[in-house]
Amino acid sequence: MKPMGPIPPEFAGDERLTIGGRDFSHWLDLAGDTPVFVYDMSVVEARIARLLNALPGRVGVHYAIKANPFPPLVQAIAPLVGGLDVASAGEMDLALKRKQPGAISFAGPGKRDAELEAAITAGVTINLESEGEADRALAIGERLGVTPRLAVRVNPDFDLRGSGMKMGGRASPFGVDAEHVPALVQRLCEAGADWRGFHIFAGSQALDSDAIAETQAATVALAARLAEAAGRTPPLVNLGGGFGIPYFPGDTPIDVERIGAALGERLDAAPDILRTSEFAIELGRWLVGESGVYLTRIVDRKESRGEVFLVVDGGLHHQLAASGNFGTVVRRNYPAAIAAKMAEEAQETVSVVGCLCTPLDRLADRVALPRADVGDVAAIFLAGAYGLTASPTVFLGHPKPAELLANSGQT
Ligand SMILES: *Cc1c(COP(=O)(O)O)cnc(C)c1O
Repeated sequence: MKPMGPIPPEFAGDERLTIGGRDFSHWLDLAGDTPVFVYDMSVVEARIARLLNALPGRVGVHYAIKANPFPPLVQAIAPLVGGLDVASAGEMDLALKRKQPGAISFAGPGKRDAELEAAITAGVTINLESEGEADRALAIGERLGVTPRLAVRVNPDFDLRGSGMKMGGRASPFGVDAEHVPALVQRLCEAGADWRGFHIFAGSQALDSDAIAETQAATVALAARLAEAAGRTPPLVNLGGGFGIPYFPGDTPIDVERIGAALGERLDAAPDILRTSEFAIELGRWLVGESGVYLTRIVDRKESRGEVFLVVDGGLHHQLAASGNFGTVVRRNYPAAIAAKMAEEAQETVSVVGCLCTPLDRLADRVALPRADVGDVAAIFLAGAYGLTASPTVFLGHPKPAELLANSGQT
């Protein structure tokens, strides 16, 4: 038997799985079929409220849409956050329906001219990933007769990822190497662009609160150094995000109150050049990850050489991350349950496998669950971020699952 990660407290405790105050069968009826993703907006609201309360007043929260671009979810989140961060023209179109262009920033390498043009025309801030992209954005702005809003994404000159600051940064497709940033900022301003500041993104899924606080401190210091070298105050310093959530046994949640307090001290002590700057952190996973549940029905129960397999109608084509094939080196089990038997003792060791014809399609590997049969519904938790959006939905040609938003004010 292998251990499973923690079920978020909002979904644990009842006899039958309740999502957004309703029995899970309500959501299956609404969807008409399994599999289905259900996101509980009240979980997201609670995360945002807690974070805003923990952060200093100068620090805004942005939502990184790529974690979960489900339009009703984006619609519900948009009024609760200060900005939306997008990484493609498609996400930008979605964001522009819900937020003023001045509150939207567009990051990501390989932006095409048409994407730059759409952003500049709309008044969206472009987070420049390279000097070549800066040249193209300036040229497009000039051709259109529109002042482009441009921020510079910085590739730090030290390693922000760990707690220790290793001198000597890495090569990266993301951002402009820090040593070239001051000259680029001067060039942007001299060319008449509306320079919006810095974007310094340091990674994802960090669970060490002290390391996050240290990274933020190093990021503030870097922003100050670059601003001094450029001789200009950045209107906005986007400190990145990287807040993780506990997926696996032994993972513990981060302490956002501690992180917020440390950041507050750091900003109070920051050099004068940042005195009028605004700050933001941009998060995807931490805001939405725990809100989602993937519900999939058992279509076959089989035994093979002493092992029990629960074969479900979903799989990695919807929830790649739970199969261990998205951003993990070692496969570990996401929390899972039998939706109608949440409170029952585990009776057997089973593997929950998806319907794809590949051995990669395993949603839970040799976990202890109550007895389940054909027709029962399995729940895979922590499906709110990098779930459907990060899965190979076209692979094998099965239908797309439904997505539903609970507590949105709409359902
Ligand atoms: C992916 C991404 C995020 C969100 O990261 P999470 O780990 O989901 O919080 C934020 N900013 C940028 C630039 C990103 O690419």
